[in-house]
Amino acid sequence: MKFKKYDKARMLKEKERVEFEGQMGSSLYFKVFSGDAEYPVVFRGPQKQWLCDCQYFVIKGKTCSHVLACKLILKETLEKTKPSP
Ligand SMILES: [Zn+2]
Repeated sequence: MKFKKYDKARMLKEKERVEFEGQMGSSLYFKVFSGDAEYPVVFRGPQKQWLCDCQYFVIKGKTCSHVLACKLILKETLEKTKPSP
């Protein structure tokens, strides 16, 4: 089960289904397109908390593939902006 979630997240990222919407204060806003639906994902900086609108996240209260995909994007973005040694 766990692997499937990560695989899906990687797939979402590779197929460019994740859009970075922008930053407001210390929160980051993303949009993830999965199937016919789109899910707004928010990262709240001060609490370091991820939020997603999907059933999996809301009902199970666990990190979903959408949040994972956003994490992958964020990590990549941060690595890109790192100064080269
Ligand atoms: Zn989700």
